[in-house]
Amino acid sequence: MKIVFATGNQNKVKEVQALMPSHITLLSLKDIDCNDDIPETQNTIEGNAIQKAEYIKTHFGYDCFADDTGLEVEALNGAPGVYSARYAGEQKNAEDNMQKVLSELKGENNRSAQFKTVIALYLNGKLHTFTGICKGEITEKKHGEKGFGYDPIFKPENHEQTFAEMELGLKNSIGHRGKAVTQLVDFLTQQ
Ligand code: IMP
Repeated sequence: MKIVFATGNQNKVKEVQALMPSHITLLSLKDIDCNDDIPETQNTIEGNAIQKAEYIKTHFGYDCFADDTGLEVEALNGAPGVYSARYAGEQKNAEDNMQKVLSELKGENNRSAQFKTVIALYLNGKLHTFTGICKGEITEKKHGEKGFGYDPIFKPENHEQTFAEMELGLKNSIGHRGKAVTQLVDFLTQQ
């Protein structure tokens, strides 16, 4: 069975392929000669994941899944959420985004936040979604150099380190994306 993973990130494809049952081969956008700027114009994380998977199904005819992730901060009414990548502007700069969150939370006691990943899968024309959530809190300042995005300011529940201080294996085992991918793999293994 061949399924497209609608992402431009080749590393993500490799990582997920390694977890897939042997009868499933993942194809990247490059593998299907898709150089399109796939639209992500919905105002929810789930909506964007569905939009990306649907685009490939409609225009290329493949079974396909796509993921979308955001950081939801309780005291900011769920922001940056679907706007996580470009929270501080279209330059999509991680440092600017983190500084914006930290300054908006200055003096705020409620620092609860969560990462949410939604994977949308179109298989044989039918839509399935899988959601992975990692709860935690926003630290007062940055800690650690590993990872990417908001990792230096996010400390997952029941852990003393931020994502940026953790080994990748630990982040993946407790993290939002890992949880969503596990559900996807379990589902596909049963097909
Ligand atoms: P994407 O949907 O995976 O492209 O993620 C959207 C944005 O959310 C990224 O540009 C990052 O700012 C942020 N983000 C996603 N996943 C993570 C993560 O695991 N750690 C920190 N930030 C993340």
